[in-house]
Amino acid sequence: MKKIYIMLLFLTILILPVLLISCGDKDEKNLTSYKMQLEFNEEENILYGEEEVIFFNNYDNAFKNLYFHLYPNAFREDAKNLVVSTTKVEDAYPNGYSYGHIDIKEVSADNSLEWQIEGEDQNILNVSLPYEVYPEEKITIKIEFEVLLAGINHRLGYGENTINFGNFYPVLAVYNEGVGFMLDPYHSNGDPFYSECANYQVSVTYSSKYQIAHSGKLISYSEANGQTTINVEENKIRDFAFVLSEKFQKSTAVLEDITINFFGYNEDEDIEERLSTCLDAVGTFNDLIGNYPYDQLNIVKSNFVHGGMEYPQLVLISDRVEGEDENYVIVHEIAHQWWYGVVGNDEYNHGWIDEGLAEYSTLLFFEQNSQYGLDYTEMINANTESYKLFERVYKNVTGSVDGRMDRPLDQFNTEPEYVQCVYNKSVIMYDSLRQMIGQRKFMRAIKDLYKNYSYQNISPQTLIASFIDSTGYNLEGFFNSWLRGEVVIQ
Ligand SMILES: [Zn+2]
Repeated sequence: MKKIYIMLLFLTILILPVLLISCGDKDEKNLTSYKMQLEFNEEENILYGEEEVIFFNNYDNAFKNLYFHLYPNAFREDAKNLVVSTTKVEDAYPNGYSYGHIDIKEVSADNSLEWQIEGEDQNILNVSLPYEVYPEEKITIKIEFEVLLAGINHRLGYGENTINFGNFYPVLAVYNEGVGFMLDPYHSNGDPFYSECANYQVSVTYSSKYQIAHSGKLISYSEANGQTTINVEENKIRDFAFVLSEKFQKSTAVLEDITINFFGYNEDEDIEERLSTCLDAVGTFNDLIGNYPYDQLNIVKSNFVHGGMEYPQLVLISDRVEGEDENYVIVHEIAHQWWYGVVGNDEYNHGWIDEGLAEYSTLLFFEQNSQYGLDYTEMINANTESYKLFERVYKNVTGSVDGRMDRPLDQFNTEPEYVQCVYNKSVIMYDSLRQMIGQRKFMRAIKDLYKNYSYQNISPQTLIASFIDSTGYNLEGFFNSWLRGEVVIQ
């Protein structure tokens, strides 16, 4: 995700609170599969869904229960974990508070299964399996569900211009060896998500008055009785999302066999220019990091309270972002296709991994593409000054500053603290590392990380070990002192 603060980040930390908007290289056939049939009724604002999950046990443990995240329940009226911070409520709910949820209607294998809703925000579906599923075995579970959308400018919800369907279906929780299933709830900071790559086959039925932008490859399209149905498929993606709008105007180009679509609104006059930024971003990251592995990417303007949001093959760009900031958000969100999309991580507990790499990749993009007029050194200096100012202000106001980068989302005290420690400090850390070990070794390490951990989830330890392997330097102390907040930024 990208908060809207980019250019202004360089001005002052004091105004930040006002401006914030917010798989081992497994064989495809051995991945879990999601088959979903979805139907959106726009009069009721309800998405009806049937989901068949073929869970393939890639872990070393046997399981008698499986857990699914029910992220739409974060939009309930009495949810304890808010979906936006209090400073963003007006932007998120321009027409007043509105609530949504997910109802689980039925869970079955061959027969009905026992299941219950758990978690402090009814955010977990716990399914008791009919038998223990051992490593390398699979089981098919069917879930019938209904999602009521809230009127909110968010990842999931309807707004003035678009209807956003992000994190809308029951998605399997990740099992961490030695820890258990990761069942963290929603949080207004960051992207509180964590999932494994899987294969998807999805059909979506919706009123033909809408156009759709979606993850996955379009297989078929049909229209009948004013309703459109599409079938899409994709292998090795870690989530599926789509956006509907009556206002979309699409522009398309092909770059290195990747079809890139920019979805703007009908009245927009800068669509070609934005598409050109998308092409530059994909081309630059293909060269700098490694090839984008899918054959399409959709960049979609939408009503969204934060700057942007990443999903596999689909990114949201907030229609509130304008001018140069829009290019910055586009580049940052596209960088997430490499960091989050292909190389994944636990975004709740280690958000700095994908946000830090995406943000630093964004600076690398502007360094490579001087036509955008953003100077790399000036950006690093501005990030550094901004961080120092944050430290000074927090020390003055609260008497201390918590500069730890690696902590769960609920352990950041404020949104500015989260932004400074996760985005800003990561950029300063990677710049410092690059200066220390040199450009060639640094870029080798970035390429190796991408190549060696594609379709997997990486931990902080994996990232550090990968950098050590690639460079030959013992960087454990370097990374740990940054992550623990021990480095004094001068
Ligand atoms: Zn981001």
